[in-house]
Amino acid sequence: MNAIVESRPSLPVRHEALRICGEQIRREQLIEVRNPYTGELVGTVPKATIADVKRAFAYAHAYRARLTRYERAQILRRAAEIVRERTEEISLLITAEAGLCRKDSLYEAGRVSDVLVFGANEALKDDGQVFSCDLTPHGKQRRVYTQRDPLLGVISAITPFNHPMNQVAHKVVPSIATNNRIVVKPSEKVPLSAYLLADILYAAGLPQEMLQVLTGDPAEIGDELITNEQVDLITFTGGVSIGKYIASKMGYRRAVLELGGNDPIIVMEDADLDEASTLAVSGSYKNSGQRCTAIKRMLVHEAVADRFVELLVEKTRAWHWGDPADPDTDMGTVIDEAAAKSFEAQVNDAVSRGAKLLYGNIRKGALYSPTVLDYVMPDMPLVKYETFGPVSPVIRFRDIDDAIRISNSTDYGLSSSVCTNRMDYVTRFISELEVGSVNVREVPGYRLELTPFGGIKDSGLGYKEGVQEAMKSFTHVKTYSLPWS
Ligand code: NAD
Repeated sequence: MNAIVESRPSLPVRHEALRICGEQIRREQLIEVRNPYTGELVGTVPKATIADVKRAFAYAHAYRARLTRYERAQILRRAAEIVRERTEEISLLITAEAGLCRKDSLYEAGRVSDVLVFGANEALKDDGQVFSCDLTPHGKQRRVYTQRDPLLGVISAITPFNHPMNQVAHKVVPSIATNNRIVVKPSEKVPLSAYLLADILYAAGLPQEMLQVLTGDPAEIGDELITNEQVDLITFTGGVSIGKYIASKMGYRRAVLELGGNDPIIVMEDADLDEASTLAVSGSYKNSGQRCTAIKRMLVHEAVADRFVELLVEKTRAWHWGDPADPDTDMGTVIDEAAAKSFEAQVNDAVSRGAKLLYGNIRKGALYSPTVLDYVMPDMPLVKYETFGPVSPVIRFRDIDDAIRISNSTDYGLSSSVCTNRMDYVTRFISELEVGSVNVREVPGYRLELTPFGGIKDSGLGYKEGVQEAMKSFTHVKTYSLPWS
């Protein structure tokens, strides 16, 4: 199942084929994947046609997975081992196709392995419930039981560019763990890691009917992916506009939509400013600031803002950005030059509206420096909308009411970070922030791959991901009852 490769000193160029209908299928129309830092060709992937998409769904639909829990767990465990053995190759590929630095891509390979292990563990758990029925005068000598069955139709998965392999793992692993069949269309910007993960799972023993991967132009095949009648559930991670388009177009079927974020770190006057500023820089710049849960707004109490900003600038200066392939680099490129230009333009716009640029806003191709701005106002477009890059905009506030109001003032509601030791503040933040998670003295993105994760408002419909919740979404509860004397 290996892709055709050409020799190159660094990483072989991968010319991939669709993984559909149990075959590797090539198409004349190709998408080129180029290294955002060097511009070199990393690989090519085929552009699937609408007919390819239809065939993939039909092939999956005709199959019923009958793997035991033990077999599913074994496949996922074996795949986790392969991922660990091939971590270096996975990391090099992610770095080459996404421009993420080696520290980020090594971390991502580790996360993928965690997703697989959690999936294996969860596959072994029986999540049925039992209800005795003799509880009221109307009861009977019976028991009601539940079990979670796989979906009758196929899962259609669409993933974004920011974590090329882990986003795919978060769709595929819960699907395998629940005996479903899934067709994945990864982002056309980073499609190579998805094919590699599929090959690892096939090598671990996964029947090909349970996972197919296809690539293409979303403008061409997008509608088929969300309206094909053999699709029971769409699981989409990406931006708000495409997510809402899917919601309007998909008709009568389920959808799990994990959309954009605009997460704050909120620094109260009692916070440990050294800790808060360390969290602020890592939450803002890791993965080149391209995480749905990256810190996109820094809300700082006015009494400590001057000192916090000093520390923030100092730690931002120390954040080593540049060649993604250099193992010492802390931050590589963003996804492409167009994205880098858009951050530059958004920062310039904020400055023209009165914000003060303290560090950065330097661009070289797809490299964009970590950037700090102070005196940002909540209604500036830089912070009103999602800025999906390494920008740290500081917004000063008066008191906790002000902080909660500003935090809740955007359309998003994914996650948040609060830096304080006051219990009265903590309890207010947990109950009043309109978000899917609140992390006290941690970055908004902190999670286990297992734990419930997802947003509300424009960030999602409230259905969570994380291996356990995704397994619930990918199943339906069947209830049965038996006589029980
Ligand atoms: P995007 O919305 O541009 O693209 C996401 C996917 O949708 C890609 O695979 C793309 O090809 C596909 N797509 C595009 N048009 C489509 C169409 N008409 N029909 C069907 N599919 C279509 O997002 P992106 O730029 O790749 O990723 C960045 C966004 O993802 C950010 O907004 C980020 O916050 C969000 N994100 C959210 C989460 C989360 O868990 N909530 C996680 C990571 C990223």
